[in-house]
Amino acid sequence: MTPLAEIIAVRIRATGPITLADYMEICLLHPRYGYYATRDPFGVQGDFTTAPEIHQMFGELCGLALAQAWMDQGSPAPFTLAEIGPGRGTLMADMLRAIRKAPGMGEAVEVALIEASPHLRQIQRDRLGAVAHLDTVEELPEKPLFLMANEFFDALPIRQYQRIPDGWCERMVGLADEGLRLGLGPVVQLPRDGQPGDVVEECPAAPAIVEGIARRIAGHGGAAIFVDYGGWNGYGDTFQALRNHAPEDPLACPGEADLTAHVDFAPLAAAAIRAGAVASRPIHQGDWLLSLGAAQRAERLAAAGDGGAMAALRRLTHPDEMGHLFKAMAIWPKGAPPVPGFDALRLHADHA
Ligand code: SAH
Repeated sequence: MTPLAEIIAVRIRATGPITLADYMEICLLHPRYGYYATRDPFGVQGDFTTAPEIHQMFGELCGLALAQAWMDQGSPAPFTLAEIGPGRGTLMADMLRAIRKAPGMGEAVEVALIEASPHLRQIQRDRLGAVAHLDTVEELPEKPLFLMANEFFDALPIRQYQRIPDGWCERMVGLADEGLRLGLGPVVQLPRDGQPGDVVEECPAAPAIVEGIARRIAGHGGAAIFVDYGGWNGYGDTFQALRNHAPEDPLACPGEADLTAHVDFAPLAAAAIRAGAVASRPIHQGDWLLSLGAAQRAERLAAAGDGGAMAALRRLTHPDEMGHLFKAMAIWPKGAPPVPGFDALRLHADHA
């Protein structure tokens, strides 16, 4: 057993099975043994590679999209450039380089990073210098807010419910002789239909985070872009563990594998609209980057001697690589032009 498996087992023996959300939170963020608390999981030596770590063009294009939105809204100064879950700080570094090309933007920017892991905070400071670190979006200043999140929402704890003939039961982590095991809690009421065996997921923390962001954008101006893998009205069991770039049983090595779930963008859009902002539908990451000029940017970098640019373009945009699996979604204020590459979504009132 890993040290964290022992800690979780002690807790389950004392107070009973825990939700998947509690399990995920302990595994990812436990201050001593949590996955993000103890390591730098990104890149070839780590467990997974994210878009900003593949090539600088990803962060540059995100920065340019936010810079265009900033200019479209009259270049408000000062403004907050924020990122939630900034990992190594690479995306923020690439965005900052890009936005400094917009006249006046570099002088008006105040960077804020929302990061839970003290270990990653240090890596971000090493990369970006002295930056403001916040614990939650609620600590963001009441100012124009331009915000980016890449592979953040997939790391938020989820709960899962499984359909049995009598209703829905929450899937819980309990104990068996040989270690941690998934089981079912008592029947609960869920406003969803289903067939026995169906699994549905919810991410309880996500809508409140989006509301906090969207309320600032609706009130003070700004824009947010979320990129993640997932879909619209997601369905089924998407809880997964990744270690050394290979999938494994999420209960096998708590604290030593990255745990994620696909992001359901529908409740995120609904939360943004509830908060008074405009939301886009999620579009393919590949289509979005290409609409921003990713191919031209890669060709120019390749012509200037960047030997990896064309392969990176393919990884980021091709439907067989990250291009379709990853989606991008944006939020902006009512009355402002859409964030480049996005169209406003119209939701029926009963979804909003
Ligand atoms: N955006 C980066 C890293 C993605 S990994 C990239 O694309 O490379 C997820 C990031 O979210 C990590 O930095 C992790 O520490 C952070 N994180 C996870 N849960 C969080 C929470 N509840 N609050 C703030 N940050 C969190």
